[in-house]
Amino acid sequence: REISNGKVKPEEDGDKYGDEDEKEDRAAQSLLNKLIRSNLVNTTNQVEVLQRDPNSPLYSVKSFEELRLRPPLLQGVYAMGFNRPSRIQENALPMMLAAPPQNLIAQSQSGTGKTAAFVLAMLTHVNPENKWTQCLCLSPTYELALQTGKVIEHMGQFYPEVKLAYAIRGSRRLERGQKVQEQIVIGTPGTLLDWCLKLKFIDPKKITVFVLDEADVMIATQGHQDQSIRIQRMLTKDCQMLLFSATFEDSVWSFAQRIIPDPNIIKLKREEETLDTIKQYYVQCSSKEEKFSALCNIYGAITIAQAMIFCHTRRTANWLAGQLTKEGHQVALLSGEMTVEQRAAVIQRFRQGKEKVLITTNVCSRGIDVTQVSVVINFDLPLDKDGNPDNETYLHRIGRTGRFGKRGLAVNMVDSKYSMDILLSIQDHFNKKIKKLDTDDIDEIE
Ligand code: ADP
Repeated sequence: REISNGKVKPEEDGDKYGDEDEKEDRAAQSLLNKLIRSNLVNTTNQVEVLQRDPNSPLYSVKSFEELRLRPPLLQGVYAMGFNRPSRIQENALPMMLAAPPQNLIAQSQSGTGKTAAFVLAMLTHVNPENKWTQCLCLSPTYELALQTGKVIEHMGQFYPEVKLAYAIRGSRRLERGQKVQEQIVIGTPGTLLDWCLKLKFIDPKKITVFVLDEADVMIATQGHQDQSIRIQRMLTKDCQMLLFSATFEDSVWSFAQRIIPDPNIIKLKREEETLDTIKQYYVQCSSKEEKFSALCNIYGAITIAQAMIFCHTRRTANWLAGQLTKEGHQVALLSGEMTVEQRAAVIQRFRQGKEKVLITTNVCSRGIDVTQVSVVINFDLPLDKDGNPDNETYLHRIGRTGRFGKRGLAVNMVDSKYSMDILLSIQDHFNKKIKKLDTDDIDEIE
């Protein structure tokens, strides 16, 4: 048995605890979110706006017409199916499009319209007559850069004079000293720094809009922070600087303040998750096999719409998927060995109801909402990488947001004193009773 932080961890399938968590990085999560997102995230929270000049009036727009966009851009916005600005766009767009343009730090969870907002700002500010790079957009990875590029192409579909180039490793064979002609360049910090500094494909003095996207993901990668700052230092003080982040921990905040001078700040709080509408149960078992038969009993007893089952390791998830399949259930499996694209496809199928059960490790529990799920089964309780109860993940797996959140059911499988202690600790933390469930007599569940 492995000991860390004075805690004894139970052996499980021979895999190391927290393995999946460690490997899953934020960039992959963020990409997955983009791949499966097809709509704005609904939020009822108020936007918090901090203006650089508190005496200047605060503009907010309720329609895209008010922004006086170039006709092909307005046409592009409508072609994307946008009817009105999202909550964050209502305030961010007038600030970004103001003359003279203003600097902005904006934070809101993924899916609230940040990308669409800065893409519109970039497209508005470039001058298509000038055949040189005017906008730089920094993304943490090539894949994320491509996603943003697609939005630029989509929104700019009626404005073909504006061209886009990707600055990614090995992407270009210009002669040293030659210049990129595309007005917008999007890429990763390392390559963009090379393009500006070493290869001189871009003249940083001619950049009028600088966007740093996914700041929280960016700073999670060693080196990206420094490279971004080095690029920013080459720009002129008239260049508009914009920074976006889905989260706002202290590290993001201090980075944002270093890189964006005199910013306006817009924040949109995440909708809080609650356990209020969730019935929570636990089942006492003594082994993995017993957990499985309890699961079958639960499954037989309730006419479940759709269920998600969380396992701690990839191995348990694979095993469970095999067992359920043998019993004749149609299951979908998400696991760490899949590419992000494969995972996105599995989630899409599940969302469309093609499978009723989705088995997963922690990798998909964070940041991804599968709101139609009414039953969540913790085949293993959530632990952090030190083997301590992970309350936040617990809440995120089974909690619901919004005041009108649907009712739900959560069942926790306990198979040792260790997991019972974890359960009790989670129960204490949320101060919400987790009732014992007898799976041989399951009637009480509904
Ligand atoms: P974020 O960058 O905050 O993750 P996005 O800009 O990618 O958010 O927007 C999330 C989703 O909502 C995308 O599918 C996007 O096309 C859509 N979207 C963005 N703005 C609007 C809007 N004003 N109206 C309708 N849909 C929008």
